[in-house]
Amino acid sequence: MLELDSIFSPEGVLSRHIAGFRVRSQQLEMARAIAETIENRRILVAEAGTGTGKTLAYLVPALLAGGKVIISTGTKTLQDQLFNRDIPAARAALKVPVSVALLKGRANYVCHYHLERCLQDTHLTFVDREEIGYLQLIERYAANSKDGDKSGLREVPENAAVWQLVTSTRDSCLGSDCPNYKQCFVMEARKQALAADIVVVNHHLFFADVMLRDEGLSELLPACNTVIFDEAHQLPETASLFFGESISTGQLLDLARDTKIEALKDARDFLPLPDAIASMDKAARDLRLAIAEENTRIALTEIKRYPNFITALDHLSQQLAELLKLLESQAERAEGLENCRQRAAEHLYLIQRWRDDSEMDGYVRWVEVFHQALQLNATPLSIADIFQKQMTTSLRAWVFTSATLSVKKDFAHYNHEMGLNTAQTASWDSPFDYAKQALLYVPQGLPEPHHKGYTDQVVAAALPVLRASRGRAFFLCTSLRAMQRVHELLQATEGFDFPLLLQGQGSRTYLLDCFREMENAVLIGSQSFWEGVDVRGEALSLVIIDKLPFAPPDDPVLSARIEKMTNEGRNAFMEYQLPRAVINLKQGAGRLIRDETDRGVLMICDPRLITKAYGKQVWQSLPPMKRTRDLAEVEHFFADL
Ligand code: SF4
Repeated sequence: MLELDSIFSPEGVLSRHIAGFRVRSQQLEMARAIAETIENRRILVAEAGTGTGKTLAYLVPALLAGGKVIISTGTKTLQDQLFNRDIPAARAALKVPVSVALLKGRANYVCHYHLERCLQDTHLTFVDREEIGYLQLIERYAANSKDGDKSGLREVPENAAVWQLVTSTRDSCLGSDCPNYKQCFVMEARKQALAADIVVVNHHLFFADVMLRDEGLSELLPACNTVIFDEAHQLPETASLFFGESISTGQLLDLARDTKIEALKDARDFLPLPDAIASMDKAARDLRLAIAEENTRIALTEIKRYPNFITALDHLSQQLAELLKLLESQAERAEGLENCRQRAAEHLYLIQRWRDDSEMDGYVRWVEVFHQALQLNATPLSIADIFQKQMTTSLRAWVFTSATLSVKKDFAHYNHEMGLNTAQTASWDSPFDYAKQALLYVPQGLPEPHHKGYTDQVVAAALPVLRASRGRAFFLCTSLRAMQRVHELLQATEGFDFPLLLQGQGSRTYLLDCFREMENAVLIGSQSFWEGVDVRGEALSLVIIDKLPFAPPDDPVLSARIEKMTNEGRNAFMEYQLPRAVINLKQGAGRLIRDETDRGVLMICDPRLITKAYGKQVWQSLPPMKRTRDLAEVEHFFADL
């Protein structure tokens, strides 16, 4: 530990080599705890307030410990930041010869096989000239790029439709049967990950591919001594997603498209196939149309409200079974047809399983309806047992860290949800002086959030504060509907001249760049801006939160979990809903103060913070800001800035 003391000291290597490094006792303590965890192969759940410097606190012991380490982050942006900036800086400062690899999900790499298929069949899938232009750029990029990572080709927008056709999915990848296997970017990235000392992944990849052992990655986790999860508060959500099962009409339409391409190439003489493909394609589209609403989640127990749904699902199963039968007779003609046969069989199996009550004990089944697609989901009621089983396959150190994991330093909720019964826990407060830097304002006179017209009253209460702060605010809403309403009302307010930015009017990066440049804007957002956003300095001086972020109780997964806990005689509100809301709120509130010189006001409009018995637990979980209910005090605060 002496070595860590010297590394993190004012004269240490980090001070000398890393720009902006500040000595913080919390950071050193956290690094010591992580070093011990790695050495003794334990489990540590570590909460580190904003500004602790948790990245270096885990990187330094991980780099020094040797052995193989997987670091998993919440987003691809954070992954790039770690790989391109933080790890090289720490490695250079410590002068340790460790190799590092960056591994993303397969959808991030150009797939030679599907690119070639696509180039041969442009008349089949493209009508759009712009997309054809993109395809040519991708072709050139694939020939010259070393890694095939699509983030390296900025000329083609990330959401361009063509990417879907030139990347692989777990379904559509031919693996070792692929004629392009030797030059494959996905396989090369995986090979490098297997050879490297430190592998940087993201949570989606970790759960989908590493933990569930996708082909080609099965050796990664067993070879690893340490796993570190940054932004670990996101794990329960991600793990639920990947420990569950799902099948979407989008996958079935992809299957229809790929089968059509493969059939044209290798089974042109087999006449029944095109009709069967078209019938299955239509049946998948009809299933989506069986529910008129969009962006909604419906529990299986509620599905009787949609009388056409079950008929459409039965019809889709029949058409898929028919297609499978035909593919079975043709599969041996080419590896592409064999891949389509396997996919048809797996999709059919998943649909049949989803329908079968006896198979789905311990899962909640539900339907998610998007604009163009519909997905059947089965989500485990609890991920604790599944995760625990995966963790205990071999002995290694596990570190879970984030700025928001506990409720008043109590980790029971998180540990219970993740099955971390034997974990040690630790919490380090932010080094910032919140009492001086920030003010928590809860306005008076607002009704309860279920009150009709609540959002209008929130906006009325926010207007004088927005004027006092001269814009420079995030207005964070808990629903898209409230977000739209806030935007409408602010836009219609006479004399309110601050520029308004609304989530969805551009990419998140674009909106944040505009926000920083404008210097007096109000950014109205919902979930996208609630976390992972870092705006330092005066550009962001006010964060308004419309109400406490409880998940909607009609959500099928949440309501099934509540019912399960209630049946077990537990208090679902106190043990599950409240801690989740607190962790979310801490994330939203965390946008305000990003360094020692930041100052600002956090306005939480929800009166339940004061009127309900649990409100105290909520505000006591926030950093220790000065609190007020007096608008004049808020105005003074801004006047002083
Ligand atoms: S192995 Fe899979 S990802 Fe790689 S080129 Fe072939 S199909 Fe594409």
